[in-house]
Amino acid sequence: MLAQRTSLFGSSGTAAARAAAKAAADAGKEIIDLTAGEIWSDLAPTIRRGAIDAIDNGINRYTDTIGMIELRQTLACKISLDTGQVWKADEVAITSGAKQALFNAAMVLLNPGDEVIIPAPYWTTFPAQVLLAGATPVFVDTRNNGYVPHIEDIKRAINDRTRAIVVNTPNNPTGIVYDLQTLAAIAELAIHRNLWIVFDECYGDFVHGHHTHHPIVSIAPEARTRTLIINAFSKSLALTGWRIGYLAGPKEVIHAVRALQSHTTSNANVIAQHAVLAHLRQTDGSYESRLRSQIASARQIGLNVLSLLTRIPVPKAQGGFYFYLDLSAFLRPSERSARAATADDIVNTLLCEAGVGTVSGTAFGDPAGLRLSYGIAPEKLEAGLIQLVETLNAWE
Ligand code: PLP
Repeated sequence: MLAQRTSLFGSSGTAAARAAAKAAADAGKEIIDLTAGEIWSDLAPTIRRGAIDAIDNGINRYTDTIGMIELRQTLACKISLDTGQVWKADEVAITSGAKQALFNAAMVLLNPGDEVIIPAPYWTTFPAQVLLAGATPVFVDTRNNGYVPHIEDIKRAINDRTRAIVVNTPNNPTGIVYDLQTLAAIAELAIHRNLWIVFDECYGDFVHGHHTHHPIVSIAPEARTRTLIINAFSKSLALTGWRIGYLAGPKEVIHAVRALQSHTTSNANVIAQHAVLAHLRQTDGSYESRLRSQIASARQIGLNVLSLLTRIPVPKAQGGFYFYLDLSAFLRPSERSARAATADDIVNTLLCEAGVGTVSGTAFGDPAGLRLSYGIAPEKLEAGLIQLVETLNAWE
């Protein structure tokens, strides 16, 4: 008796993996959970103070549907600094996390029958939201090109129905950071084929080694009129539960988002908006750099352990806080093991035998992948990865 649209999506694959790890833990098993897309951290003192002050000041009312003007102005300044361009408050809408920013984008940009290019492996919510908007996701496999989309593959996937391309860098799940040339080529193609670019940079504050995060509008200012920037404080300030994200783009898009959001959620939580505003006004950057060093050191601890894997290449982990393993060697019978294993089999074995929660690549459209989050406490991370390496190296 439910609406047909409910058949278009299941609960997100990452949420299911998290639930499986939690169920095993609740059943009394000791589990090290590497499934979560969030960072283990204390709250920034400025966020805490900002929220408490807002409560003490009796803040309890609706704000403007797309967020407090002071916060939108402050975000416009931040985006201006990030991109080297001038952005104004009327080009920014505050949302309940990046997920709502993406949902709004899908609802205001897509018509039924449109197609949207999504490089695969992909974050599981991208295609689900495209489907909800009545459009069709078209996947471009990046696995044969180091998880970076090949521009010729994108060209081949474009047709008259193509309306948008999703660009997520640093990438969830692959941990890849798109280089300048790739972004420039995507922008050029989008201009040439009249496509929207949905540019998700939620992990932009976490880039490692010599890699740099490039906002696509900085590389190709001429693509700005067709680009929606999607971002949030969920990862950059370890605030997943507070639900503050935003979308920046052309005024007419923001105008449509305002109307849409006025009929869905109205404003994002007011106390969280005040807290983020207080933080952005007062921060000296020390909390952010502590978070970045925590992630950088967790990455190093993780790579040291993962370098002991015998059948799997060490992941690149250029950005974000995910290790993405290529399990191809396990998917076919080999000299060592007559039995082929799927990524789902491996996830189950890791959970049941090694007590390590991981996310199967099937959640990301890649039956050969395995995602491990290194946003957790370092001692747990190291112990979990050692167990994982032992299990995979001993796989028969
Ligand atoms: N975009 C990407 C690529 C993500 O990985 C996530 C969350 O994992 C989101 C958006 C959603 O973030 P939020 O928690 O701010 O809704």
